[in-house]
Amino acid sequence: MSGPRAAGAGATRACPHCREVILESATVCPACRHYLRFGADTDTPPVAAITPLTIEGSIRHPPGGDPWEYTVVVTIRNDRGEEIARKLIGVGAMHPNEQCSFTLSVETETVTAKRPARGVVRH
Ligand SMILES: [Zn+2]
Repeated sequence: MSGPRAAGAGATRACPHCREVILESATVCPACRHYLRFGADTDTPPVAAITPLTIEGSIRHPPGGDPWEYTVVVTIRNDRGEEIARKLIGVGAMHPNEQCSFTLSVETETVTAKRPARGVVRH
């Protein structure tokens, strides 16, 4: 299901603190969690983001044996199954009886509710 596309939806910029590519509409950087005063829309009350997807799990290395190395990769696919992003999140090692937890969360916000009539940009 796809409705009309909101102007500017998905526009990105670099976080001035950590340089990660984030949404232009973000008021807090999701990577480094710094507040982004620049470009923040202070007239509009903040729209609560919803998290329609959260996956959390942990892996424990059994006691004894050789250490493990791990690689965390996240991929995003569009409606047609085409890969639109693939990112290496981190690597590390786990030693006997050590545990690591991993959390993936997808936050969504409605664009039209957050940015009322501020100039239309068509792509
Ligand atoms: Zn940042």
